[in-house]
Amino acid sequence: MPDRTPPDRPVVSIRFSAAEIASRVEEMATDLAGKLEPDTLVVSVLKGSFVFAADLIRALSRAGADWSMDFLTLSSYGSGTESGTLIFTKELRLDVRHRHVLVVDDILDTGKTLNAVLERLRRLQPASLKTCVLLDKPERRSGSLQADYVGFSIPNQFVVGYGLDYDERYRNLPYIGVLKNPPPAE
Ligand code: 5GP
Ligand code: MG
Repeated sequence: MPDRTPPDRPVVSIRFSAAEIASRVEEMATDLAGKLEPDTLVVSVLKGSFVFAADLIRALSRAGADWSMDFLTLSSYGSGTESGTLIFTKELRLDVRHRHVLVVDDILDTGKTLNAVLERLRRLQPASLKTCVLLDKPERRSGSLQADYVGFSIPNQFVVGYGLDYDERYRNLPYIGVLKNPPPAE
């Protein structure tokens, strides 16, 4: 099959292999399954968490957890590696009131995104609110926010793959990698 990838697309070096991610997701699901309330509402924050959330819910089922799922989309304006203004572009469809909610996101970086999501959800009066992120970049945090469940902690590097994009590419990669020659942030 011809490779139609543009020649100037940055190269990615593998940081977490598909096997490492799969085994960590399985571990997290086992831990979560022992702690989640029955019929927990899993809220996946799109777009970045869609691959992680898809793997996590199936691992949760294997581990015996009971859940239902919804999605919300927070869009950050700007296409580079820096986040801009946050806007909710897709709201939840299910009722959150009195439900036990687990928010699933890809990366906890400055905390701006997760804080906005938590603020929005708290207003809907859930019975409880927990957070689960695949990646944590504690160096970049602007407040004291911590996730209840973390897959991997990483230094301040821009990563792609496994749902994470750079300018809407790379979400398909089965591993998480670092851009070797990232173009300058806009
Ligand atoms: P925060 O609002 O915590 O600064 O950033 C969280 C969001 O920014 C993540 O949900 C993710 O969408 C994006 N983000 C932060 N760091 C990275 C990164 O290294 N790679 C990618 N692709 N997105 C990131
Ligand atoms: Mg995100």
